Amino acid sequence: MIRRYRQTKIVATLGPASGEPDMMDDLFQTGVDVLRMNFSHGTHDDHQKNLETARALEKKYSRPLGIIADLQGPKLRIGRFKEGRIDLTEGMLLRFDLNEEEGDESRIPLPHPEVIEALDVGSDILLDDGKVRVRVTEKGNDYLVTEVIAGQALSNNKGFNVPGAVLPLPPLTEKDEIDLEAAIEMGADWIAQSFVQRAEDVIYTKKKIAGRAALMAKIEKPTAVEHIDDILEHVDGIMVARGDLGVELPPEKVPVIQKQLVYKARKAGKPVIVATQMLESMIENAAPTRAEASDVATAVFDGADAVMLSAETAVGKYPIEAVSMMTRICQSTEADSHYRRLIAASAPDAEHDPSDAITVAAVQVARDIEAAVIVNYTTSGSTTLRTARQRPEGPVLCLTQNESTARRVMLSYGVRSLQVTNVENFAEAVEKTARFVKDEGYGQTGDKVVLTAGVPFGVKGTTNALRIVDVE
Ligand code: PGA
Ligand code: MN
Repeated sequence: MIRRYRQTKIVATLGPASGEPDMMDDLFQTGVDVLRMNFSHGTHDDHQKNLETARALEKKYSRPLGIIADLQGPKLRIGRFKEGRIDLTEGMLLRFDLNEEEGDESRIPLPHPEVIEALDVGSDILLDDGKVRVRVTEKGNDYLVTEVIAGQALSNNKGFNVPGAVLPLPPLTEKDEIDLEAAIEMGADWIAQSFVQRAEDVIYTKKKIAGRAALMAKIEKPTAVEHIDDILEHVDGIMVARGDLGVELPPEKVPVIQKQLVYKARKAGKPVIVATQMLESMIENAAPTRAEASDVATAVFDGADAVMLSAETAVGKYPIEAVSMMTRICQSTEADSHYRRLIAASAPDAEHDPSDAITVAAVQVARDIEAAVIVNYTTSGSTTLRTARQRPEGPVLCLTQNESTARRVMLSYGVRSLQVTNVENFAEAVEKTARFVKDEGYGQTGDKVVLTAGVPFGVKGTTNALRIVDVE
C-alpha cells in the first residue's frame, strides 16, 4: 500500500534515467503522483512502453497514476552551421535568412518565414535560452540583419525566442498533431500544450481532444500571461513553465508571475504545476542547493497543486533522491503553522452555488471534527476540484466510477482517488465509504469521515448532501 503524508503533488518527467520498470516502481513508491512524458524527446515506442509500465504499477499498488503527455509545440530553432558552431563578438552583424544551406559567420539559416515577417527593426531576439541577444537593424522580404548585443557563440539548432511578440504560429505543429493522437491512443490522461499564446490556441486543441483527455496550457510566453483569464476558462489546468518564461521575460518577473498564476488557477478550481529547475543541481549532485530547497518551499507556500521535476528525473544521476528530497521539502513546509495561515488567507470566496456551498462546508466541518478524510462521491470529479481549491488540511478521497476522472484528479492538491462501482442510494454510499476508508487505510474504527454526494445518484453536477460518517 502506498501512503502519502503531504498535500502538494509531485510530477516527475520520464527519460533515459527513469524509464526502466524497476526505476519507475521506485519513483512511484518514493512519491511520484503524476508522470510526464516529454514528446520533445523519445520515440512513440518509448512513450508507449512507459505508459504500459505505469498502468501495471497502478494495478500492483491499486492506486491511480496520472499521465501527462507534453507536446513540443512551435518551438523556434535556427538551422545548422558548416562547422557546427560560430563565435560571436559584440557589435558583429548577423544575417538570418530562409536559405536552408548550412550557415557560417556571414549568414544563419532561419526556416521560419512567418517570424521574419512579424519582426521589425529594433526588435530583440534571444537565442540559446537567452545566452545570446541580437537586435534587428535591417529587414528584407526574406531576411533580417541583426547586431549582436551579447553572447559568445551559437551552435546547431539552438532555440530562438522573440520576447513579447505575438507570432502567427499554428497552435499545434504537424508533429504535435501526430503526437497528440498517439498520446491519446496510448491512454494519456492529460495533454500539455506548449507555447500557448492566446485562448484560441487552447480552444483549437480542446476541440481536437474532444473530451478524450484533460488539457493543460503551459504558460511560457508573455502573451499567455496577459491572456491568462481567457485561457484558464478553456483549459483543465496550467503549468507555470518557468524555463521558457524566464527567457521570454526577465527572470526577475518570474517569481511574481508564478504567484499570480497559482492564485488564479486555484481560484478557478483548476490544478496548477510549478515547473522547471526546481532541484536543477540534483541532475549532478545527491543534494540540492539551499536556494533550490527554498524554491520548492516557495511553490508550496504559494499554494501550487503540484511541483515538477524535469531533467532531474529524466536524465539526472539522482532521480530517487530528487523525489525524496521534494517530498521532504513539501512535508516540512506544509507542517509549518505560518503555511496554514497563508493558505487560509488566500482562500477563494464561495460561489453562490449549492455544490460549492456544500464543499466549503465539508472542508470546514472536516477541520472542526478532525475528520480522518473528506470523501467525495463524484462522476466528473468537479466536486473534488472544488474541494481541492479550498486547500484542505487533510486528505480528500475521490470515489468515482470513471477511471479517467480517478487518474486526472491525482494532480490536484490533497486528492487521492479510487475507481469504484456505481451506488444506488445514499445509504449504500455511506456504508461503502466507511468500508473503503478502512480497507484503504485512510481511517480506522472510531474515526469520523465527511462525505459529500449528489442525491439522487448518477446525475452529473448535483452535489447536495453532506454527512458525517462514523467508521465502525
Ligand atoms: P519544456 O517546458 O521543458 O518543455 O521546455 C517547461 C518550461 O519551459 O519551463
Ligand atoms: Mn518550455
